Amino acid sequence: MTILNLATTSENEIVRQAVKTLKAGDLIIYPTETVYGLGVDATNQEAVSKLMRFKARREGKPLSIAVSDKAMAQKYVRLNEQAVNLYQQFLPGPITVVSEGLGQVAKGVESEFGTLGVRIPDYPLVIEIVRALGKPITATSANVSGKPRPYDVETIFKYTSKKQQTLIDLVLDAGRLPKNPPSTVIDTTLSTPLTMRQGNVNVSTLNLKSPTPNSQLPTPNFITNNPQETRQLAGKLLLKHWQDLQETGLVFALSGALGAGKTTFTQGLARYLNINEPVTSPTYTYMTEYDWQKNEAYGKLHHLDLWRIDDPKILERLEIDRLIKPYNLVVIEWWQQGEQELKEVVKAKNARLVEVKLEDVGDERRKVVVK
Ligand code: ADP
Ligand code: MG
Repeated sequence: MTILNLATTSENEIVRQAVKTLKAGDLIIYPTETVYGLGVDATNQEAVSKLMRFKARREGKPLSIAVSDKAMAQKYVRLNEQAVNLYQQFLPGPITVVSEGLGQVAKGVESEFGTLGVRIPDYPLVIEIVRALGKPITATSANVSGKPRPYDVETIFKYTSKKQQTLIDLVLDAGRLPKNPPSTVIDTTLSTPLTMRQGNVNVSTLNLKSPTPNSQLPTPNFITNNPQETRQLAGKLLLKHWQDLQETGLVFALSGALGAGKTTFTQGLARYLNINEPVTSPTYTYMTEYDWQKNEAYGKLHHLDLWRIDDPKILERLEIDRLIKPYNLVVIEWWQQGEQELKEVVKAKNARLVEVKLEDVGDERRKVVVK
């Protein structure tokens, strides 16, 4: 492993060594305006596999890529109007814009939805390296999954094994970086931008004239045009809350009239969890239980339907609090039937609650409000 001190090495030399390493399919650690990143040629399958070995236990989380400019981005993703707006306003900068991928990167870089996160770091040296390479590099943070964010090289080494460290070929050491949060990640492939991760930039305020407190931001509100889009939206929301699922357990509270799409939405959650059994409304049973496994993670999906519950005693007997725990996804149709009691239950368990209201707005269109 070579460690280059950026303060004492010429830019030409840094770029030359970085490009050489990347071309060889090897791994570099590089500074950005957020955290240290882990870079390999994003089009090189072996290099990406090597990176995955370093990260360990990613559990299917997609990677993102760093490009030098919008023109390079367009070789790898299809930019729609939402995306173009974000590029114009924020890039280079601490935003990862997720678009529909064109299948031009190594396997495992795009998400299972076929989407790809793209970043143009506000760090001229990195842009220079990517430009000189002529291809995007991966832009994942340089820590092992679940370990502290890497603001200096010492921290990266502290939390990695000797074996992992042998996977790193070149470190561009810029010293301690300012503790900026990781980039804001925005999926632009839905009817409305979906913030997958909140960093310094708050995209919900984009179109508002003056700064607005978080509490007054409009609730995200999506339109799906067919059942398939509703299932996709469900999967993307589950990806967004993947960490919550593992840490506290996750409750999806679905409300909406008969036929609004609550069960269809649940099918999307189940598909994301690799559940192959058909998911139907448990209307005559109150609850159906499924086992799921995704990469190295596994747990249960509890699918409840409160439609016929008119007696709070039945609600109690379901012992929903016992279902809520890390790695369990609890999905409750007809949430409105037990909303008050259940909110308390979820709160007491400190679990993440995602409330979803579905509404039939004509033809195959559904309005989906997520809170
Ligand atoms: P619920 O569980 O809310 O009663 P279901 O999901 O069982 O609703 O049924 C919704 C029905 O509406 C399904 O037959 C589905 O195919 C149809 N549908 C049409 N368009 C959509 C859409 N955009 N999203 C979800 N379902 C849709
Ligand atoms: Mg249903």
